[in-house]
Amino acid sequence: QEQTNHFRKVHRIYIQGSDVSKPFEDFSELSSRYGMNSTLIQNINASGYVAPTPIQMQAIPLMMERREVLACAPTGSGKTAAFLIPLIHCLGEPQKKGFRAVVVSPTRELAQQTYRECQKLSEGIGLRIHMIENVSKAVKKFGPQSSGNFDILVTTPNRLIYLLEQDPSDINLKNVEWLVVDESDKLFEDGPKGFRDQLATIYRACQSTQVRRALFSATFAYDVEQWCKLNLDNVVMVTVGAKNA
Ligand code: ADP
Ligand code: MG
Repeated sequence: QEQTNHFRKVHRIYIQGSDVSKPFEDFSELSSRYGMNSTLIQNINASGYVAPTPIQMQAIPLMMERREVLACAPTGSGKTAAFLIPLIHCLGEPQKKGFRAVVVSPTRELAQQTYRECQKLSEGIGLRIHMIENVSKAVKKFGPQSSGNFDILVTTPNRLIYLLEQDPSDINLKNVEWLVVDESDKLFEDGPKGFRDQLATIYRACQSTQVRRALFSATFAYDVEQWCKLNLDNVVMVTVGAKNA
């Protein structure tokens, strides 16, 4: 424990919460500790990631252990892989149950970047990753008549909300196991209630009792912290670098 605290201090990882998973130091530990698929480890190496960044050291084990998290770390610190690696691991083989993970990004551009990184990290694993390009096509692809042959959705909130608010809903999120909100500080800024309502709508559509949530952001926003304390289950908050920096 003493050693773990020292390790966190050295990497400027600050935590709040109970029974926080031990951080890891080297990607190879993910196979010994969690039996991570060797293809995924290979893809991490092929991306040129030699060692995990501090946010990855702490957020990956938490998500591997299915904890709900709020993770704050500076721009450029590798937050995308911090949530994509555990997502890809948790989903395992492709299935025909419809989306099992949803990543919400504030802009189309960011969603595209996340989509590309997700494809790279899941190469050879076969998971089907989608964005909502066009709402009328999305109805055909993901609606009630579709094959359910897809696993991960990367989207902006507006497009997803549009599909969810059709009656009956044009997209089924009942088998979603992970709901990730990227740049949550930005999304929460949009209007006094705006994104909170959207997030509640999205979460309600994720009817599985298994669903877990993770929020990532570059700044430590008081609003987001309060929301997480109130709404997440036994949340762990991770901050890298100076608080409020
Ligand atoms: P953030 O979302 O925190 O702003 P990104 O996820 O966009 O950061 O990552 C920033 C850059 O760092 C990207 O080019 C990404 O490929 C790279 N990166 C991520 N993780 C690592 C790692 N462990 N080692 C080296 N580079 C990494
Ligand atoms: Mg990012």
